[in-house]
Amino acid sequence: MSKVKGSILKLNRLILFTALTATVITFINSLASNYQVQKEQLVSQAIDVNRAYAKKLSDTTEIFLQSSLQQLNYTSKVAANKIDNLAFLQEQTAQLRYQTKSFNSTLLGNKDGIILAGSKEVDALIGRLGLISPRAIEEKAVFITEPFPSSVSGILIILMTVPMFDADNQYAGFVGGSIYLERDNILGNILGEHHYKDGSTIYVIDKSKKILYHNDLSKVGTFADVDLDTVESNEGEGGLIHMESGEDVLIGYSKVPSTDWVIIAQTPVASSLLPLTGIMEEVVLHTTPITFAVFIFVWFFARSISSPLQQLAEKAKLLESPSTIQDIEKINSWYVESHGLKKSILSSMKLIHKQIGQLQRDVTTDPLTGANNRRALKFRLEQYELLETPFSVLALDIDYFKHINDSYGHKVGDDVLKRLVELMVSFSRDSDMVARVGGEEFIFILENCSQEEAYTCAERLRIKISEEEFNVVGHLTVSIGVSSWQKDSISIDHSLNLADEALYEAKGRGRNRSVIIE
Ligand code: GH3
Ligand code: MG
Ligand code: MG
Repeated sequence: MSKVKGSILKLNRLILFTALTATVITFINSLASNYQVQKEQLVSQAIDVNRAYAKKLSDTTEIFLQSSLQQLNYTSKVAANKIDNLAFLQEQTAQLRYQTKSFNSTLLGNKDGIILAGSKEVDALIGRLGLISPRAIEEKAVFITEPFPSSVSGILIILMTVPMFDADNQYAGFVGGSIYLERDNILGNILGEHHYKDGSTIYVIDKSKKILYHNDLSKVGTFADVDLDTVESNEGEGGLIHMESGEDVLIGYSKVPSTDWVIIAQTPVASSLLPLTGIMEEVVLHTTPITFAVFIFVWFFARSISSPLQQLAEKAKLLESPSTIQDIEKINSWYVESHGLKKSILSSMKLIHKQIGQLQRDVTTDPLTGANNRRALKFRLEQYELLETPFSVLALDIDYFKHINDSYGHKVGDDVLKRLVELMVSFSRDSDMVARVGGEEFIFILENCSQEEAYTCAERLRIKISEEEFNVVGHLTVSIGVSSWQKDSISIDHSLNLADEALYEAKGRGRNRSVIIE
């Protein structure tokens, strides 16, 4: 039994377990999906910000380039016709250098590429064949060089040149402005204005991936560890990229239209996801009370579902208890299935009780007459002995019954027996008992009755029977032996024997009489 108890789970534990598991799974699932959504959002936000930033910076750079070229153009127009006036050229290039902060140095060369004038940074080059690319001279067009080391200072520079044409529209030379990539320069002014706290970087590369600008100056001139073809892009110019260093970064990039330059804004994934911890803490903080409330609700609701089942199970165990049926009727079976279960338990219990009652009656009742049988008599006498209840016994036998059977048949004899029992029962008090102990022999027990009173009763009964008109048979008589029992007198068996002896005596004395053996 204990083994069974140990291995079978109780319903409310199962429900608690189910409610807990469901709540925990839902909670974890909601955290996990929240985490995923927030993460994707942070990633795409970072990409968007970088993309927008790169675009904005490339627009600004383009504007700067255009205005720089305009400045160069202006100087080229002014200087083209005064190519021999070196002082004028010197003044113009100086003005170009210092009027704006676009260039780190300026210079002016003739159609052969010889530097005629320039800002003081290029003093050493004046009169010499300049650094202007032969292509710029050949093409006689606007030209922006790739980064190259300056022949004066050795640092990386970019040179922008515009051609000069004289009054006859003949190529007269060029005006150029340079940007010192490794020094404080206009690109730095344009691109370095923003302050990124989250590990973000802005840098500019040319088509060979050489870094033209980087907020870490030491990286200028080196090649960038970025391959824009491998960007896992969801849309536009940006996305996730796995760097050769193993780091995952989120980038946005934008090409500067009039050059091959690409401006890249990049943020490590790890630093973009830093706010995630805080967000998840918030999520947990907000979700926990609701989760808890859901758990309590599920638990209580499930308990109220299980409650009728549990009560039915408990009560159904107490089959023998007389109050079980009323107890089960009181159970609130509020949903269809429990109601059905309650109904069927109730009807089977009622049936069982009825059958048990019937069986109990059957084992204690004589089937022909409905009088008590020997078993019932024995049980009653045992009770009297136990409770020391005094009583008297009438042993009653029909006179010449065989004769009735012989004359009118067995069936009529049976009817006589039934009617006789009716008479005796109507004669008895509630506490008395009528038992059939043989064919036409009966024991009449009178509770709390003295022998004398019993004798009187016996006589009254005998006379009552003798006066009865039985069907078919008419009148008949009975003989009665009387005895009594009380505590500390004779045994109960003995008192029954005495009643039998008295009955025998009555028969012997001619029947139709009551006898007490003194
Ligand atoms: P006595 O006055 O000495 O008692 O004579 P009696 O004929 O009544 O006594 P006896 O013992 O000789 O006969 C009893 C008869 O009761 C015998 C039997 O046929 C009859 N009897 C016993 N049980 C039943 C019964 O259930 N139904 C019927 N109809 N007769 C029964
Ligand atoms: Mg008889
Ligand atoms: Mg008899």
